[in-house]
Amino acid sequence: MNAPRNSGVGMTSQRTRQRMVERLRSLGIRDETVLGVMNEIPRHIFVDEALASRAYEDIALPLGFGQTISSPYTVARMTELARGGNAFKKVLEIGTGCGYQTAVLARLATEVHSIERLAQLISKARRHLRDVRAINTRLRYGDGMQGMPQAAPFDAIVISAAATHVPEPLLEQLGVGGRMVLPLGSGEEQRLCVIERTAQGYNERRMDAVRFVPLRSGTE
Ligand code: SAH
Repeated sequence: MNAPRNSGVGMTSQRTRQRMVERLRSLGIRDETVLGVMNEIPRHIFVDEALASRAYEDIALPLGFGQTISSPYTVARMTELARGGNAFKKVLEIGTGCGYQTAVLARLATEVHSIERLAQLISKARRHLRDVRAINTRLRYGDGMQGMPQAAPFDAIVISAAATHVPEPLLEQLGVGGRMVLPLGSGEEQRLCVIERTAQGYNERRMDAVRFVPLRSGTE
């Protein structure tokens, strides 16, 4: 069993985390609830040991298997947009990766379902989430483009990989009043999008330019 790497010194200390949060605030993150949660979660537990000292820098880090861990700013921004200033209960995440975004969502929601298509990553994420005692998370190995109809409707859906179009099943699984946040586009032409479901239909807003790995169908 892996012991949690929560040494209270140096680059992994509470002080380093506070500096990360101050930086996120200066970069424009406004939701103090999100910042409070990111101040508490030990992000270095989610990255490979060799990279732990860089866990609080605002950079995307390699995750293995050609995937990347989203930067703290991206996680904060997507979470802030998914909340839209409101509390949410049931959340679906597509692209668990290392599980850090999952852990942030888990502190804000009652229940978080997260789907990952790479088998090796899902077991890694399970270990990390156990280390931070995120007990309200349910991880599933599968193709997230199909969503999770058995757990729908969701108050928020967060997609951590770039889609060229919004997967139809996910739109259906978004509850009325809910918000979906996803990078839309491909290659260097991607924008963070927020899709809100109202009683009348869907509203889409295009926001910041971003760079994510592509959403892929099937499993590996
Ligand atoms: N939030 C994660 C992001 C990881 S990168 C983190 O910070 O660690 C994006 C992840 O999406 C990768 O792990 C990739 O395997 C996964 N992914 C891509 N397409 C997917 C799909 N259709 N279903 C589920 N996961 C997918």
